[in-house]
Amino acid sequence: GDEDLDTVPTPLPLVSTFHRERRWADTSSYAAKKKLQSWFQLSNGDWELGKILSTSGTESVISPPDGKVLKVKTESLVPANPDILDGVDDLMQLSYLNEPSVLYNLQYRYNRDMIYTKAGPVLVAINPFKEVPLYGNNYIEAYKNKSMESPHVYAITDTAIREMIRDEVNQSIIISGESGAGKTETAKIAMQYLAALGGGSGIEYEILKTNPILEAFGNAKTLRNDNSSRFGKLIEIHFSETGKISVLLEKSRVVQCMEGERSYHIFYQLCAGASPKLREKISLKIASEYKYLRQSNCYTITGVDDAERFRGVMEALDIVHVSKEDQESVFAMLAAVLWLGNVSFSIVDNENHVEPLADEGLTTVAKLIGCNVGELKLALSTRKMRVGNDTIVQKLSLSQAIDTRDALAKSIYSCLFDWLVEQVNKSLAVGKRRTGRSISILDIYGFESFERNSFEQFCINYANERLQQHFNRHLFKLEQEEYIQDGIDWTKVDFDDNQDCLNLFEKKPLGLLSLLDEESTFPNGTDLTFANKLKQHLNSNSCFRGERGKAFSVSHYAGEVTYDTTGFLEKNRDLLHLDSIQLLSSCSCHLPQIFASNMLTQSEKPVVGPLYKAGGADSQKLSVATKFKGQLFQLMQRLENTTPHFIRCIKPNNSQSPGSYEQGLVLQQLRCCGVLEVVRISRSGFPTRMSHQKFARRYGFLLLESVAYSQDPLSISVAILHQFDILPEMYQVGYTKLFFRTGQIGVLEDTRNHTL
Ligand code: ADP
Ligand code: MG
Repeated sequence: GDEDLDTVPTPLPLVSTFHRERRWADTSSYAAKKKLQSWFQLSNGDWELGKILSTSGTESVISPPDGKVLKVKTESLVPANPDILDGVDDLMQLSYLNEPSVLYNLQYRYNRDMIYTKAGPVLVAINPFKEVPLYGNNYIEAYKNKSMESPHVYAITDTAIREMIRDEVNQSIIISGESGAGKTETAKIAMQYLAALGGGSGIEYEILKTNPILEAFGNAKTLRNDNSSRFGKLIEIHFSETGKISVLLEKSRVVQCMEGERSYHIFYQLCAGASPKLREKISLKIASEYKYLRQSNCYTITGVDDAERFRGVMEALDIVHVSKEDQESVFAMLAAVLWLGNVSFSIVDNENHVEPLADEGLTTVAKLIGCNVGELKLALSTRKMRVGNDTIVQKLSLSQAIDTRDALAKSIYSCLFDWLVEQVNKSLAVGKRRTGRSISILDIYGFESFERNSFEQFCINYANERLQQHFNRHLFKLEQEEYIQDGIDWTKVDFDDNQDCLNLFEKKPLGLLSLLDEESTFPNGTDLTFANKLKQHLNSNSCFRGERGKAFSVSHYAGEVTYDTTGFLEKNRDLLHLDSIQLLSSCSCHLPQIFASNMLTQSEKPVVGPLYKAGGADSQKLSVATKFKGQLFQLMQRLENTTPHFIRCIKPNNSQSPGSYEQGLVLQQLRCCGVLEVVRISRSGFPTRMSHQKFARRYGFLLLESVAYSQDPLSISVAILHQFDILPEMYQVGYTKLFFRTGQIGVLEDTRNHTL
């Protein structure tokens, strides 16, 4: 009973880079024995439990519960844990830490609606895709007064609050996982708990109420999640004064998205929900009239009423004190973005230069943003360049003009988004001082690896690589502290960092980001010349591999991803020329302050990275990648000053359906988001700890030489270690405890159980 659980490994919060060749289902210390329960793998890759009937050298006979009898390779058997450990609430309590045992334990709990499990210091949350009876005031109360302690978002939020008060250090809750895994829901659940504890201030309620705005403007339907946040969101809640939200948005979705996906919700909500009066005022048509929305051939989401959501957004805008007039301007700008997508071009000379057609699209955009048609036409078909002291006007080709048009649309949208975030933050700060401590909740897009990976995945995965390092370093530090305290040599703990991969991205001048920026400044640079440059300069980095044509691969902590550079340069340049900037800041559009404050100054703001000069033109501005990196560094800086708490969300199936648990899919995510890492690395650290006394008491009777009984616990312990031939590199003797590598105690336990 109790004694048993006492001796199982304590959490080892250590993480390192993912090594394919070092699979952690290591069975070296496991001798398949008759009668033992063991995991064996079916041909589809799933694991099943069976009892070993006999074993002779390389072959074993095993019997699964269905009564059949199978012959399997002995070396493929993976030890299973005793029944008593079924569904433990911390994976670290498992005597045998291996893939099937972890998968089984999570599934065991998931089937019983226990969607939360600890993996040492990390909370694993498996998306139930249904309502589970785990939330609400009774639960909040129970976690608050500690009458309930099973793993939960509430518990981790409670710990964050307590540590904030105890250590007087800001806290952060970092939520990651792939699209649709439940990050945003989890963030809301954490906010719920803060809201309930916040008592008087009520700030968390206000933040929750502003959610519809950020969701409408920042979320979209993707193939994996009907409500995918295409932005990273850091919500900072200051105790007990004010809250602040900062965001990183994926802009490309405004002008393009894949078949079956949607652009940002707000476009469809607006088209479906605008009143006849508003429609007329902002010249709005139905969604299918707009090219930007038509290209993915998907307008609705099952079970979602866009018109009703639109009313929700308007209410939320009221709450954050955006005036009706400003709301109308916001909608006018959205309409302008949609109409921009309908602007088309025709060739006007024999050099293939184009001009926009003066049709409904062009005139409506001009009307909505408040400039004259001629100005808009120029901005979309020419580029001013400075040569020496002269300014020359260059005409644009069709593809250049389309890029310029799309860049303008994206810019309007992202300025609008930034402005809204500003309004939300302003409203949250009204009448409150920013003092005291804070808890930040980070809800950020997780690691992405698709069939085809583009610039967006490149940025997202780079951000995740940074977050992973944050995770590594924090957990490693914790671990190190414990070793130092007990006087053991922590240098023997094998710890790999993902610094190599980060260097691949960040090194100057020969890193992925620098080379991308450099190539983006060359007028003749193309995606292919970029790819070739990468192959030329980065081949020596072990995390990089050149692929055929325009592709390259990066060995991320979560696995290898192949990127297709098609579109990289254009997306990175995000051409917004001075012409467009001037146009927008001079126009009489309804929200000139949006553009005045956010766009023009973009080129004058202090620069985080190298300046990007578009084709040698005037329009000095930061490249998208550089801007992204700058924002990421700011985010990391803010996180560095906090005590982090980690939640890893897992999606158990791809069909968003309750009750279905696909082992392979879960396993892949456990590897991706570093949960397996925490567990795997415990094999290279010393996760099992036991005091000298306890060790001597528990295994002393196994000693063949009974003289041992007269000796002190440490001597007895050492004698046991010798008798069982436990190799010196497998353990360390601390001042108070013995530290073991994983699997070592298992041998002793087996012998003990066979003897008793
Ligand atoms: P992510 O932000 O990771 O992309 P979401 O938080 O939007 O994913 O979750 C996707 C969907 O999964 C939600 O819309 C909801 O239906 C469901 N879901 C996620 N977490 C929970 C939960 N704890 N309880 C019930 N349903 C959930
Ligand atoms: Mg989300």
